[in-house]
Amino acid sequence: MKKTISILGATGSIGRQTLDVAENLGLRVAALTAHTNVRRLEEQARKFRPALAVMTDEAAARDLAIRLSDTETKVRGGVEALSEAAALLAADTVVTAVVGMVGLAPTLAAIRAKKRIALANKETLVCAGELVMAAADTYGAEIVPVDSEHSAIFQCLQGCGDRREIRRLILTCSGGPFYGMSREEAGKMTKADALRHPNWTMGPKITVDCATLMNKGLEVIEAMRLYRLPLEQVSVAIHRQSIVHSLVEFRDGAVLAQLGTPDMRLPIRYAMTYPARAESPAEPLDLLSCPPLTFAEPDRNAFPCLSLAEAAAVTGGTACAILNAANEEAVRLFLEDRIGFSDIYRLTERALGEIPAVVNPSLEEILAADAAARRSVLANS
Ligand code: NDP
Ligand code: MG
Repeated sequence: MKKTISILGATGSIGRQTLDVAENLGLRVAALTAHTNVRRLEEQARKFRPALAVMTDEAAARDLAIRLSDTETKVRGGVEALSEAAALLAADTVVTAVVGMVGLAPTLAAIRAKKRIALANKETLVCAGELVMAAADTYGAEIVPVDSEHSAIFQCLQGCGDRREIRRLILTCSGGPFYGMSREEAGKMTKADALRHPNWTMGPKITVDCATLMNKGLEVIEAMRLYRLPLEQVSVAIHRQSIVHSLVEFRDGAVLAQLGTPDMRLPIRYAMTYPARAESPAEPLDLLSCPPLTFAEPDRNAFPCLSLAEAAAVTGGTACAILNAANEEAVRLFLEDRIGFSDIYRLTERALGEIPAVVNPSLEEILAADAAARRSVLANS
C-alpha cells in the first residue's frame, strides 16, 4: 500500500524538501501545517491535496480558509490544531519539521496515535527526550531520525541488536561559518555573517545554532536520548566537508560511517522508506572528486555553547529544557538584531545558572522550566 504522510512545518526548509521526496516517491499527503506563510501553504495544498491544512497563526488560518474554499482541504487554525494534524487517521508517518519546542505537543500526539515519527524537530528531544522516548516505547511508535547525523548513526546501527556493542558515537560537525575564529572574533560577527553556512541551506534558527555550535550541543543531547547513551559515549569531530555524516565505533574496534553528498533529501528519503531503500534522482557521491576528508577536535573555548549543552546533558532533569528555551529565545532576539552574537551564550548560561534544575520532571515541570528560561533571557537582554 502507498504510504501517507503528514508534515508539520511543511513550508520550511525540511518541509519543502520532504514534499520533494514525497512527490518523487509518489507518497500521499494527509495534512500540511505552517505558521504564517499562507501563500506557500496554499500552493502546496493545491498541489498535494491534503485533507487538512493548519496555520498556527489564527489570522493566517482565516486567510488560508478563504483561499482554499474551492478545494476539498479543511483548514484549521491555532497551536492545538498541530496535534490534530499529527494524529490524523489517514497518515502512517508524521514528519516533525516545525522549528522549536512548539513541536513537543504534536510529537506526543503523533506517538499516541502510533505513527512513525520522521523526526527533524530536535528541540523536542532536547527539552523532553526522556518523556518522548518513554511514550514511544509505551505506544510502540517508531522514531526514525531525519537530522543527518542521527540518520547516519541509525543507518550504521542497522543489524546491531545489542546496544552494549556500541563503544561510542562520533557526530561530525562542519564547524559553521566562524570556524577557526577566536571567541572575540566570532563575537563581532553579525546576523548576515551567521546566516551564511558553508555547506547546508537551512532555516534561520538552525543556521545560527550552527554558527554558535549550539546545534552540535543540541545534537549531542538528541543522540543521547535517541540511543540511550551517556555523554561519555557521544563525541564530536569537526569535519569541514560534510560528507561523512557521522560514525559509530563498536566495542571490537570496528568503525562504521555513513557518507553522502550534503543533501537533506537523503536522510528524509530514508526515514520515508526505512527499512527499505528507494532509487534516488540525486547526484551520486563521487569519492574521486571529493576534497580530502579531514577530522579535528572542536574548539570549545571559541564556541562555548557546545560545552554548555554538554554540561546541561550531565545535569539532566529540566536543565536541557532550560538550555533549549533560553537558546531559542536568544536566537530569536539575535535574528531581530536586538542582541549580539556572544549574548546568545551569555544569556543561555545565565538562565542555566538562575533556574534550578528539577530531576525526573513531569511534562508540566518541563513546560514551567521552558517558560522560566524565556523570562530570564528577556529580563537579562
Ligand atoms: P524553517 O525555519 O525553515 O521552517 C520551520 C517550519 O515551522 C515552517 O513551516 C514554519 O512555518 C513552521 N513554524 C515556525 N514557527 C512556528 C510556530 N511557532 N508554530 C508552528 N509552526 C511554526 O526550519 P527548518 O526546516 O530549517 O528546521 C525545522 C526543524 O528541523 C528544526 O527543529 C531544525 O533544527 C531541524 N533540522 C533542520 C535541518 C535543515 O536542514 N533545515 C537539518 C536538521 C534538522 P512558516 O513558514 O509559516 O513560518
Ligand atoms: Mg544535523
